[in-house]
Amino acid sequence: MENIPFVDLNAQFDQIKTELKKGIDDVIESKAFIGGKYQTLFEKSFCEVHGGDHAVGCSNGTSAITLALRALGVGAGDEVITVANTFFATAEAIAEVGAKIVLIDMDEKTYGMDLSQLEMVITKNTKAIIPVHLYGNPVNMEMIMDLAKRHKLFVIEDSAQAHMAQYKGKSVGTYGDAGTFSFYPGKNLGAYGDAGLVLAKDEVLQKKIRMYANHGRISKYDHEFLAGNYRMDGIQASVLTTKLKYIDQWTEQRRENAKSYDELLKPKGFKVIETDVDAKAVYHLYIVEVSNRDEVMEHLKSHNISCGIHYPIPLHLLKALEHLNYKSGDFPKSEKASKRILSLPMYPELTKTQVERVVNEFLKVAKS
Ligand SMILES: *Cc1c(COP(=O)(O)O)cnc(C)c1O
Repeated sequence: MENIPFVDLNAQFDQIKTELKKGIDDVIESKAFIGGKYQTLFEKSFCEVHGGDHAVGCSNGTSAITLALRALGVGAGDEVITVANTFFATAEAIAEVGAKIVLIDMDEKTYGMDLSQLEMVITKNTKAIIPVHLYGNPVNMEMIMDLAKRHKLFVIEDSAQAHMAQYKGKSVGTYGDAGTFSFYPGKNLGAYGDAGLVLAKDEVLQKKIRMYANHGRISKYDHEFLAGNYRMDGIQASVLTTKLKYIDQWTEQRRENAKSYDELLKPKGFKVIETDVDAKAVYHLYIVEVSNRDEVMEHLKSHNISCGIHYPIPLHLLKALEHLNYKSGDFPKSEKASKRILSLPMYPELTKTQVERVVNEFLKVAKS
């Protein structure tokens, strides 16, 4: 029985092996290991392909959020609002700069932030909102920007799962003051190690972020403030520049696969991700809800099909965030989803036949 992995990094590597290895070799030959010309080229290429004007490559998607918050001056005494249904890193970055994490529930249809709850948690200490384009499904950025403007709040779009996604024809990460990206190997655009990027709204913020990523300096020993080291390395920049040539094609393949899943699962009454009419989703993950998840996962596993849960515990119920004093029942939609969501295999090279096989096995046991 053919194995269908959850993500297939081999399939992508096999396609572009020669080019990737040549790019890595070039970095080694030139010794531009940290920052330098490969990072500059990647930042420029990323803006051309994804959208945005002021990119700063950095060490990973978590530091990208931290850097954006720091450069915007968010810190101790400030509150930052994000959503209970996201990857832990979104909250971690808020804590890292010393700000208070404030959560709201998710929207049942898009699984993103429930925008109707935003205004209720804004206080005089609120400084920023971090919407997350989770699963590659864009949040309604017009509504968020409008609200942020009225309340004078910064917006940082966590776009770690949403390279190439758009809202009303404009790329995610270009609406807010900053947009942050992860290039963790399994993401839609993945490095061969850790890497990330921040898109800044203007040159002033871009420069600050660059300094926060590199010991608070511009030239070698003129440290202007305390910062840290969150730099991108040349090998990752080279790998990512090579892969950027294919991201459009890979994104379309993901969307095709999502469409196939939709067509097979929706008529059977299963709840799947819904996308805002103005949004172009890029399906980092494909989510379906079931009432008998353990059984479904067991069945798929025994038929060599891998799947995942993103995420099994909403942020407010994690041990690490106990000190926020949230309790079970505070965010019922996120809690309910966390018990029912299942992520099916999703990657560009997944074929229609494989999607059909996944769904075929899924339908044998899954209950909506
Ligand atoms: C992956 C991810 C991050 C963190 O990125 P790393 O590169 O792993 O640090 C942040 N937010 C979300 C939503 C993510 O999926």
